[in-house]
Formats: sequence, structure tokens, C-alpha cells
Amino acid sequence: MPPSTVLLAEPRGFCAGVEMAIKALTWMVRVFEPPVYCFHEIVHNRWVVKAFEDVGVIFVDDIEDVPAGAPVMLSAHGSAPEVVSSAEERAGIVVDAVCPLVTKVHHEVRRMADRGFEIIYVGHAGHDEAIGTVAEAPEAITLVEPETGLTDFAPADPSKVALLAQTTLGVHEWQAVLDEAQHSFPAVSMARKSDLCYATTNRQDAVRSLTESADLILVVGSESSSNTRALVRVAREGGVAAYRIDDVNSIEDTWLDSATVVGLTAGASAPDHLVQEVIDRINPRDGVRLLSVTEEGEYFPLPPQLRSLLRALQQTVEAGFGARPSAEPGPLDRDVDWNATEALAAISRYG
Ligand code: SF4
Repeated sequence: MPPSTVLLAEPRGFCAGVEMAIKALTWMVRVFEPPVYCFHEIVHNRWVVKAFEDVGVIFVDDIEDVPAGAPVMLSAHGSAPEVVSSAEERAGIVVDAVCPLVTKVHHEVRRMADRGFEIIYVGHAGHDEAIGTVAEAPEAITLVEPETGLTDFAPADPSKVALLAQTTLGVHEWQAVLDEAQHSFPAVSMARKSDLCYATTNRQDAVRSLTESADLILVVGSESSSNTRALVRVAREGGVAAYRIDDVNSIEDTWLDSATVVGLTAGASAPDHLVQEVIDRINPRDGVRLLSVTEEGEYFPLPPQLRSLLRALQQTVEAGFGARPSAEPGPLDRDVDWNATEALAAISRYG
């Protein structure tokens, strides 16, 4: 018998940073002949990456693999300063789709390093965001995995220690390192709340609420997505069986056999149609109930390099075909009114 109910977390799925990055890369494939290059996966989701590969985007992990003069986008996770500068030297145009909330942490690293602080950066070694952030001041940063804590951290001056974090950590694992740091270094300097972003904390709050009613929780998202994996950990910490699934095909029948209420959510880079397909597969007897913990209205504008490019193109086109009536909005004015789901649908048609 299928589960009685799917409890659908809200918010879930695309955050404002992912929305911006997907729309930005969509503009790139519309403006330039393929291939368009992208340094690292634009966002950590297999389906999204494949959708862009299908329309001629080539993802590279080394900026040297970008041919001279080609258009290149840098991913939402933020890139090391050397990557940005070598992209600027090689590429015809560089659009940096870094999320502004990651940029904020990069700025903070530079600011604290310039003031002579030793920085504890809580993050996952090897993750794109951590690599880019640590590269801002490698001589001043010690990367600390949330699971291991501060064991090996021994600052020269314990009164000049700063604590920063990857934006997508689990709230509890971040809190554990914070407690340890405040105990060992009472003067530790950090952001007023934490560097965990609004999307991370909201999605984790929603999963925590799911654990109160669900006996199984499914999290849609890719293995490479740090915030997705954090959602699974949060669900398990709440005592509920939880699994990450790429899509509907990852679901095992045995998981559903003993479940009555299935909690369902998605990481910040997972498209919502994958969630809808999971609902169709579960086909709950009593339908779907929404569990909403908060509303999100965050919007991040397109990267400045892309806005300048689009503005220049628009002016060129209008010079040839007559100016647009002043009351009529151009594509940049409308950016807030379309979303990444529509962008992905547009490139699917375009390809
Ligand atoms: S998860 Fe947070 S930091 Fe990462 S892209 Fe989304 S809003 Fe930005």
C-alpha cells in the first residue's frame, strides 16, 4: 500500500544564488555561439549541469582548459582570486556568477587576514566553495572540518582568532565548532549570527519540522551538493530514516513499504520538477500537505559583467531597429519577473 501522505517542505529547492547563476548561464548560451565555458559546475546538481551541457556548455575544473578568447562563466560557489585573474587574462568575457553571500565571506576573510587575525574556517575540504574561500588568504586560514573540530588549531595569539564558515553547513555541526571556539578563545571574532546563509538555515528548519510527523524523509539533490547532504544529516539527527535521492529513479521500494508519512524536500540546487516526479511516484493515498516554516523573497540581480554586456547589446540592437518605447521594459528590467525554472525550460526548447 502506498504511503498515506507526502509532507512537502517549504522552503525547498532553488535559493536566490542558484536562481541568479542559472539565469546568468542561460543568458550566456543565448548570447554566445557554443561552446560557452563554465569553471566548475554552475551549481551542484547533475540534472542542471546536463541541461547546460546539452546546449553546448563545457564545464572545466582548470581555467587553462578554456581556449583563449572564449566566453567563460565562474560558478556560484565562488572562485579563488588566481582563477578569476587567469580567467580574465585568457577569456573573451568573464562573468562571475558567485553568490553574493559567498562573496561576503570572501570579503570577511580578506578583512580579518589584513587585520592580523588567524582564521578558523569551518568547511568541507575539497568543496568548491571552501577552496575558493581559503584561497583568499591561505596563509591566515586553517580549514576545520565540522566533524573533527579544533583539535589541531594552535594560534600564535589566542586573542586574535576569527571564526568563519562555509555557507551550507548543518546548523548543529556549525554550533558545535562555535561552542568549542568560544570556550577555547573567548575573544573569538565572528559574524553577528553566522555565515550559514538564509537558504541553508530555512531548509534545515523545514526538515526539522518534517521530523515531527514523517517516518521517512527524502531529500532530492546531488551527492556533490553540500547543503543537500546537510539536510539528510538534519533529518537523521531528528531520528527519522532519511535518504538523498538524485531523482525518482533512486527511490527503493522497501523504503516506502513501511512509511505512512513521507517528508519530502530538495537541496538548494535541485529543480522542482524532480520533486514533482517523486510525488507522482509515491502517489500518496491522502495526497500532499505543505509544511511551510517561512517565506523567502530574496532576489539576487545578475552579475554586473553580464548586466553591462546585456545593456550594451540592447543598445546596439535598438540603435539598428529604433529605440524601445520608454515605458516598455527591457530584458534586464524584467529579470526579477522570471525564474530559473523558466530559464531551464527555455534552454531545453532552445537546444
Ligand atoms: S545556498 Fe546560500 S550561499 Fe549557496 S548559492 Fe544559495 S543562497 Fe548563496
